Amino acid sequence: MKMNNHDIIKDLIPGYLDNVISTSSRKLIETHLQSCPSCQKYLQAMKAELTTPAQLNLKQINPLKKIKQRTHHKVILGILITIVIMVAGYFGLALYAHSFPAASQQITQSVQKNGQTVTLTFQSDQATAKKLNLMALDQGDNNDEDGFQPVIDVRFSRPLPWNRNKNQQAQVSFNFLSPYQIRGNNGQPYPLEENDIVTINYKNKRQRIRLIDLYQSAETN
Ligand SMILES: [Zn+2]
Repeated sequence: MKMNNHDIIKDLIPGYLDNVISTSSRKLIETHLQSCPSCQKYLQAMKAELTTPAQLNLKQINPLKKIKQRTHHKVILGILITIVIMVAGYFGLALYAHSFPAASQQITQSVQKNGQTVTLTFQSDQATAKKLNLMALDQGDNNDEDGFQPVIDVRFSRPLPWNRNKNQQAQVSFNFLSPYQIRGNNGQPYPLEENDIVTINYKNKRQRIRLIDLYQSAETN
């Protein structure tokens, strides 16, 4: 099978593009190309094929850019998720820290005397003790005009989920100096009168006990 000029030229073109042919072959090709559109097209096609890998490289770089953009988006998303978790956590803690008044039927109340110290003890029932923390907030008020009028709020708070130990007991102590004398919040002795009353606030009722009676009713430890 006889090869025509075109076939020879076409066989040489890859070497021509790679610059690995002799000067005489190069001149032969260039002379032929000037008068042969078919071989010119072939040369262009070969050039295009050679440049294709380079274009492929560019296409391979683009996905890398996309990956960088995706990483960027992930960082922003991560920050947003962190903010959402922190806000939710804050409100979660606020919810759990939130306290509410205890109902008197959930509480057993007792009074003990140890020396001259009289202690009011509040004990939550078993079912409640498993779920809630008991608190007795002493709003202890020592006002000369009103007399000695402490106020105790008996309240529950929700323990944090990981806190297994719940306070099922809460206490408030009063430092009596005698049956008719108490140490005030300022440390000074305060003479008790008939209308000096401790107020105990429950959800469903308000209990008022004269401090003189509280002292008398206390069981000695
Ligand atoms: Zn040709």
